[in-house]
Amino acid sequence: MNSDFLEWLDRQQGRQYDLHARHVNPVFVKMLRTIGFDKGYVRGEGPYLYDQAGNRYLDFLTGWGVFALGRNHPKVRAILEQVLSREMPNLVRMECSLLAGLVAEKLTSYTASARGAGGLSRVFFTNSGTESVETAIKFARCATEKPRILYCENAFHGLTMGSLSLNGAEFFRERFGDLMPGTEPVKFNDLCSLEKALHRRDVAAFVIEAVQGKSCKVVADGYLAEAQRLCRKAGALLVMDEVQCGLGRTGKWFAYQHWPEAAPDIVCVAKALSGGYVPVGAVITTPKIMDAVFDSMERCVVHSNTFGQNDLAMAAALATLHVMEEERIVENAAVLGEYAIASLAELGRSCPFVDEVRGKGLMFGIDFKRPEHSLKLKAAWDTLHTLNFGVFSQMITVPLLQEHRILTQVAGYHTEVIKMLPPLNVTRADIDRFLEAMRSVLEEIQRVPGAAWSTMAAMARGVVRAQMESSVTPAAR
Ligand code: PMP
Repeated sequence: MNSDFLEWLDRQQGRQYDLHARHVNPVFVKMLRTIGFDKGYVRGEGPYLYDQAGNRYLDFLTGWGVFALGRNHPKVRAILEQVLSREMPNLVRMECSLLAGLVAEKLTSYTASARGAGGLSRVFFTNSGTESVETAIKFARCATEKPRILYCENAFHGLTMGSLSLNGAEFFRERFGDLMPGTEPVKFNDLCSLEKALHRRDVAAFVIEAVQGKSCKVVADGYLAEAQRLCRKAGALLVMDEVQCGLGRTGKWFAYQHWPEAAPDIVCVAKALSGGYVPVGAVITTPKIMDAVFDSMERCVVHSNTFGQNDLAMAAALATLHVMEEERIVENAAVLGEYAIASLAELGRSCPFVDEVRGKGLMFGIDFKRPEHSLKLKAAWDTLHTLNFGVFSQMITVPLLQEHRILTQVAGYHTEVIKMLPPLNVTRADIDRFLEAMRSVLEEIQRVPGAAWSTMAAMARGVVRAQMESSVTPAAR
């Protein structure tokens, strides 16, 4: 294996689904096989994936948003190769890493705001989005000495116990026992609900995504500033979870910056920070909050992690941010995002299944609904939903992949939203290719009876069957 690892790996191709069915997650394999997503991708370049037969797929899922620069950006890779070829000291722990200092300097240059020197000028490095959120929870409780954490209905902040306690969907929360005490949902975009929850002045933080990952809902104009004012009045911190919507995704470095009057106390990032190469995350906050946590030499690493600040993650982050600046990626996301959302909304207007197209920049989704007028379409929708809720969205994602070779995904569970997260350096030609494919798929689903509906009904029946099998024969999994 050592002499030529890649040759060896090529010879293993085709084994992945069987290996995963045996050793990793058989139900996931079953799901992929049921919807025909069990491809064998062998290469990724920019916005494209290639399978063994050489077919090219346009990736509008980007590894759940990590490949902001597409896959294997040559400049980021060249920098990582340089780092790997040098015998770097890496993770000495009892020293300060130059690379981490440089990433912190760069990151905080994007958060320098109206607050000036007291602003978001300190960084704690993590290894994932959920760890960033866990860190924010701890920092907020420590700095305010208050217990409660508020979050929004339908929010997603990660799946470890702390961040799961801030999850706005019962689907994710149920079955895992007692979650963190003192956490409470408020209605998204509803200031009265927030004000009521803050009333007792015992809230450490209100954690919110400016664009919700699970629904693509966007905070209303003026909401964040007012939420911030209410939080300040109650002595609570405003935490922006920018794990998905941050780092250029919405056409600004951070999504909250679309509303300049908002000046959060803590910003969580991860995903795109390393360009998808290495797990990484960061929490950007104020000196006051950081100093409250690390308040003595004894406590100088009272919150920490083993792999944080590792050289590969830090080099990948520096390289990614450098390329984002050099190639004006954030501007591209703003311009093409606006174009994509407006064009998709236009397409949606002629499809009775489309409820709303929404999002910000290159984070946008389509919410589907039961049609209002046509009896035939209503009946088709109802039939499918009696079989399986959520399968309707697969009527979009499946033909997008199988017929148009575009990879997308349903945005949550028990919702009918599909979300698009193209690379931020996507071209207008690829957005147009996606729009053309969507036009064709939206037209096809209006043909009832038609091939799309019978395929989906058969698939939904397959899903029901597979679910029954997996729930009655757990030992076989
Ligand atoms: N916050 C948000 C807004 C996210 O979208 C995600 C991941 N989808 C997370 C937190 C958790 O990130 P990770 O999967 O890296 O733990």
